[in-house]
Amino acid sequence: MNCLLESVQVLKGIGPQKAKLLANLSIYTIGDILYYFPKEYKDKSALVKIKDIKSGYTYSFIGIIKSKPIETRSRKGLLITRYLVYDDTDEIEIVFYNNRFAKSLFKPGDEIVFFGKSVFMNNKLLVEVPEYEKLNNNNIHSMRIVPEYSLTKGISHKEMRNIVYKALSFVNNKLADIFPDDLRKRYSLAEINYSINNIHFPETFFDLESSKKRLKFEEIFMLQTAFLYLKGSKNREKGYSFNSEIIVYEFIKRLPYSLTKAQNKVLKEILDDMKISKPMNRLLQGDVGSGKTIVGFLALLNCVGSGYQGAMMAPTEILANQHFDTINNYVRLSGLGNINVELITGNQKAKKRIEILEKLKNGSIDIIIGTHALLNEEVIFNNLGLVITDEQHRFGVRQRGIFKSKGNNPDMIVMSATPIPRTLSLVLYGDLDISVIDELPPNRKEVETYYISSDKKERLFRFIKRLINEGRQAYFVCPLVDESEKLELISAKKYYDYLKTSYFKDYKIGLVYGSMKNDEKDEIMKSFKSGDTSIIVSTTVIEVGINIPNATIMVIENAERFGLAQLHQLRGRVGRGKEQSYCILVSDTKSKIAIKRLKLMTKTSDGFVIAEKDMELRGSGEILGVKQHGLPEFKLLDIFRDHEIISESKDAIDYIYKNDVINNDVYKKMLDQLYIKFQSLIDKLVLN
Ligand code: ADP
Ligand code: MG
Repeated sequence: MNCLLESVQVLKGIGPQKAKLLANLSIYTIGDILYYFPKEYKDKSALVKIKDIKSGYTYSFIGIIKSKPIETRSRKGLLITRYLVYDDTDEIEIVFYNNRFAKSLFKPGDEIVFFGKSVFMNNKLLVEVPEYEKLNNNNIHSMRIVPEYSLTKGISHKEMRNIVYKALSFVNNKLADIFPDDLRKRYSLAEINYSINNIHFPETFFDLESSKKRLKFEEIFMLQTAFLYLKGSKNREKGYSFNSEIIVYEFIKRLPYSLTKAQNKVLKEILDDMKISKPMNRLLQGDVGSGKTIVGFLALLNCVGSGYQGAMMAPTEILANQHFDTINNYVRLSGLGNINVELITGNQKAKKRIEILEKLKNGSIDIIIGTHALLNEEVIFNNLGLVITDEQHRFGVRQRGIFKSKGNNPDMIVMSATPIPRTLSLVLYGDLDISVIDELPPNRKEVETYYISSDKKERLFRFIKRLINEGRQAYFVCPLVDESEKLELISAKKYYDYLKTSYFKDYKIGLVYGSMKNDEKDEIMKSFKSGDTSIIVSTTVIEVGINIPNATIMVIENAERFGLAQLHQLRGRVGRGKEQSYCILVSDTKSKIAIKRLKLMTKTSDGFVIAEKDMELRGSGEILGVKQHGLPEFKLLDIFRDHEIISESKDAIDYIYKNDVINNDVYKKMLDQLYIKFQSLIDKLVLN
């Protein structure tokens, strides 16, 4: 039997009781122990001589117990136990408080390694309540870099270290390395036994680092192999083949603009993929305003032209409405009168809804645009061929699976404006092929961005008035308040009232917020789109996708409360037309980091630069809604910092497959082992 799978109870000193405690930490087997990594390390390796101990510092030192302990009680009844210890330079007292067992800890002559803080008390230097370990030829609690683990009640640091140490001794350097030697050499990966030993009990910090690197690599390599496996199994599935390029390219000739080089490249990738009779799973990434919608429509056209139904799902009703309008315009432009486009949302009248559902089922609707309502069980297609989800980061991965079941392996395109560094998309979207529109349509003017404090608002308002009088429109965005929709609304409402009754009382202003009735929301957006309303005050609901080129100024209040990526998305709502646009970040923050972030926004409009910086400054998963992705947590790997390791692992996988190393026995064995290991990982990814 594989010794990693043995129960923890094979270790001496671990019976059913302790096993139960360990189970609280999800530790059941020897392997679980070995892969239960320390949460931190304390460097206790430097030893001092007793004569060099000064007051107020923490030291490691070796002392010999000089005499029997002395127990006294303080006036308040505190039990005090002292030992006098010495080395070849001096002697010092060790003190324990209120510990009935302290007196039997040591005998005269014992050689002990102590670790503790010295204090000056009653004219004497003492070391109070030190950690201790008998000197032996292999100290694990002292005189070294000592690991500390997350604990559970009933298990102390010392005990945990003992358990890990016993598990390591049990395995006794006999772990088989899943990575073949040449792979390890290629990516400078430490050997497995060395790595497991040193992640727990590192000889030096260098050993710790190289062990960490190896184990991180192992983590991400597993995930990426799992992705590959998934891709492989998708590849074995049968899907549709769409062949209506002629219609697509005929339509492109009718567009009032020509596609950018990047749009053309991505379109070709998509059409090529759609031609193959395997399901497409593709992420279409492109910065805000890069023109993803038209590419999405062209893919829909290719699908519909071949006689299948297409669907496009948007995260908000406003956006679904907008896509519906846009796509209707495109259909009109195409001259292909027989394409039937419909909209489905959660708020339609029952009669209309039933009609749409019926038409979807009998195939008389060709393209359906919708919100989450599309995911509903009662939405049944006649022959769903292509699903596009816009602004995917809002949805999470789970929805992909639902659509899959609504058709016979339909093609999927996931569109996202969230700029994510390549390494991160490898982690988040590893099972998708990726197409990137890395270019904006020509003649876009960069949005001028300013960061001001709130006392400058008078001037700002005057400026906005001027723009509006010239015919432009403005957005005012109020921040999320304590994650509470209610408070958020109050603040937006207040702001709206304030503008309406003071500075902008002669202008038409609309208020838009998340929980608003959809008809109302729709009406206001329509009136804004038509130019009737000059100003929109909103919560963050306008964040994604809205396209109103005449709106050229956006004011973001309390801008420090937004993440950079979010600010970038918001800013993307302006700068969509010929006129110069502006984005004003209002903030009175004193936080240095926040100021740095806001200043960065004024300097760059490159989404990828912003995303990288955002990761650097925040270093957490909040930015991208990564948490929603339902990916397994990594024990060691930090997906925001370990770019290099992620790239190397991807490189390794490409190397293995491209060079057909995969058929080499050693590699075959490695993958077999991996498949067994990550079966549960795959289950999780598939369920998502
Ligand atoms: P996003 O990628 O953010 O979803 P959209 O698809 O909403 O961007 O496109 C933004 C605007 O750019 C739209 O008004 C669209 O008509 C326009 N557009 C798209 N492609 C081009 C192009 N190649 N040349 C000029 N304008 C374009
Ligand atoms: Mg869009």
